Formats: sequence, C-alpha cells, structure tokens
Amino acid sequence: MNERDAKAPPLMDYIKVLEKQDHNARRQEIISDLRDMGITPEIQECRWLSVKNIIADFSPEGRVASLLFTAHYDSVAGSPGANDNASGVAVLLGLCRELKNITVPVRVVFFDREEAWFRTPLLRLGLLGSFCYVRKAVLQNVAEVYNLEFCGQGNMLTIWPVRKSDEGRKTIKKIEEAAGRLSIRFIRGYVPWYLMSSDHFSFRRKGIDAVTLSMLPGDKIPVLENALKGKSSNAFLRPRNNLPDLLSAIHTNKDTSQMLEEKALQSMLVLTLELVRVHSSG
Ligand SMILES: [Zn+2]
Repeated sequence: MNERDAKAPPLMDYIKVLEKQDHNARRQEIISDLRDMGITPEIQECRWLSVKNIIADFSPEGRVASLLFTAHYDSVAGSPGANDNASGVAVLLGLCRELKNITVPVRVVFFDREEAWFRTPLLRLGLLGSFCYVRKAVLQNVAEVYNLEFCGQGNMLTIWPVRKSDEGRKTIKKIEEAAGRLSIRFIRGYVPWYLMSSDHFSFRRKGIDAVTLSMLPGDKIPVLENALKGKSSNAFLRPRNNLPDLLSAIHTNKDTSQMLEEKALQSMLVLTLELVRVHSSG
C-alpha cells in the first residue's frame, strides 16, 4: 500500500462541511469529494424507498469486492449529525483518498436513510439504505462488512453488537487483531437492536458477517453498560433519547463538530487501512 499522504487535510474538514446539511446536500458533497479524488462513484437507487446509496469500488477489473466498509450519510432532522454520522462518512472519505490509486477487492458504500423508519402498527422497517443495498447488490463474495458510526469522540474502539453467539465471527477476530497491532484499546459492546441499531443489521439478516465500529470515551463505558443492564424489559417503552449520557448528544442539536476530535477519526482511519492491508495480503 502507498505511504500515507502526510499533507492530507484533517478529516474534521469533511465533517464541518457535512454537518447541518440534509441528506440531499450531503450526497452532493460526497459525490463531488469523490470526483475531486478522481473516483467515479456509482449511485444505487431504490425509488420506492427514496434511497440513493453512493458506491466507490476499488476492485480489480472483473472481480467483486469481498471487503466492504459502510457508513450512513443521512441524519436525523433537527440534528447537525456530526458524530451521527458525518464522522463515519469522513473516515470513509479519508479511506477513499488513500485507496484512490490502487486496486484492492474493497468497496466503500455510503448509505442513505439509515435513520428512516417505515412505521405501521405491525411493522417497523428501518435502515432503508442498507436494506435496499442487500436486495440489489451482488453479495456472494462479500466476506466482511465493517460499518462505521460515531467515530469522532473518545479513544476506545467499540465493536458492536457482540453477543455470546457472535463471538466466533471472523470480523471481530480481525478487528481485534488489527487494533492490537496498532495499540488501539477496544471493547466489545452489546446494545439490543430495538434500542439502537445500524446498517450491520441488514447484512446479518442475509447471513453476512458484519459489525459496527465506533469510537467512544473509554471512561464512560461502565456508565453506559450499567445504564443498559437490566433495563431490557422496559426498553421498548423508553424513547431513544433516554439513552445514557454518553450518547445523549446523538439525534439532538448538540451533535456538532465542536464535540469531536481529529484523533478519534484518525484512529478509525488507520484501523480501516490495516484491515485493507491484511485483507489484500491474505
Ligand atoms: Zn447513525
């Protein structure tokens, strides 16, 4: 892999442009950022769900990517959406910048409408961008999916959701090995899907190995775990913004770039690059 570009601008610059914009403006911004890098993105459309996903593919001619990195680019109305999830988008734009001149079986997907939910009395259908993606894309060769959410704050890599039954997953082993080599502290987390989910869910439903990666402030994780412990029985009744302090800015007007740190974004970027390196040498 190429040497890292020492003169690359901070990833925070992407967040400052994206925050406070709606998903249409964000989509235009991501597309033009990719074009500026010399990358021609593919737009995957699902009209009936008003979804437009953005795909950047680095695979060699005639091959289907086996490693996917994903992040949703939409945000909740009324929230600047900096950590959720301009931060994930910024890391993936940084990854595209690093990969632009090489061919590796890697695909980067920016999902639309993760935050959107169809609600009927009987059915809740959310994560619309990734739902659309797994219906339309060729998934046969996809071996690992790493989905990024909340990448802009803290020094503790959080791998989620990991339950006992998930412990054999290859993605979890690979990410923990990569974090170990890079001396990035990590923890496995579990939040019930009805409290908080993300686009890994759409892939897991199709039997594909997928995890979500976040950066969180390490000192607040015990608080989060305690708050979640034993609460699952009434969790259905609790509004999502009653989540513990750590995540309380999410989906509110407090989710701005001012709360975020370049260092957290850079940790996530080197981690994704390490996963690419291992994948293409293995
Ligand atoms: Zn999100």
